[in-house]
Amino acid sequence: MSKIIAIANQKGGVGKTTTSVNLAASLAVLEQKILLVDADPQGNASSGLGYDVQKLGDSTIYECLVDGLEAEKATLKTEIDRLALLPSNINLVGAEVDMMNLEDRENIMKKVLAPVRDKYDYILIDCMPSLGTLTINALVAADSVLLPVQAAYLPVKGLQQLIKTISMVKRRLNRRLMIEGILLTIVDFRTNYAKDISSKVRETYGTSIPIFESVIPVSVKAAEASAEGISIYGHCINCKVSNAYKELTQEVLG
Ligand code: ATP
Ligand code: MG
Repeated sequence: MSKIIAIANQKGGVGKTTTSVNLAASLAVLEQKILLVDADPQGNASSGLGYDVQKLGDSTIYECLVDGLEAEKATLKTEIDRLALLPSNINLVGAEVDMMNLEDRENIMKKVLAPVRDKYDYILIDCMPSLGTLTINALVAADSVLLPVQAAYLPVKGLQQLIKTISMVKRRLNRRLMIEGILLTIVDFRTNYAKDISSKVRETYGTSIPIFESVIPVSVKAAEASAEGISIYGHCINCKVSNAYKELTQEVLG
């Protein structure tokens, strides 16, 4: 049975998708069978793995969640061996409203993924920047949640709300849910500010929540790779940011 990890933060632009794509790619390179689930109508994980989201048609995670399409039928191969993608596009915008009327609406994603769980070692879910129904569904389906946090004042402040939501889900909907760890992303080591924020996060949360030793440095290479629709390894195999994601992968593998 695979381990399911949701990558979530309601704050936008903190590196959720970049982390999802590169962790997925990195695990796949290490012989793990991976499914990356794009749970964001922006479809950034799908385009980040080379798909033109406007051409996906009616075979996306939206149809799985709302129309009962089997996950396997919507799953796509990627350029990377052992890495499969359950894609998304703008259709998914309607999902939150459509799911409102469905029975047991917090458990829909869990049920969609159940039949494919034994095919993969890890299923990663790239969440959208909100704490709405889709993200709650991801947290209910998941065994653990990885929290990318940008090392800047406001994103760190939003962490409180996120942790509250995770606790609520754990209490009411998914007792198994663990926090995989807080991951500091887009860290500019040249500034004292970033260093201060990093130590503040460790001080505030370090005793109650795991924090990854690996931190992801700010790097134009990360942004270039996502724009090109490839993983960081396809762009630059041995630069700081790809090495940081390799280290993170080792931590996730334990
Ligand atoms: P959203 O909330 O919109 O889904 P996100 O949390 O998934 O955003 P990303 O899309 O991964 O965040 O990253 C936001 C932007 O920052 C992207 O343009 C991405 O290429 C860039 N980025 C991500 N990581 C880094 C990094 N380490 N250094 C520099 N830029 C980065
Ligand atoms: Mg994203």
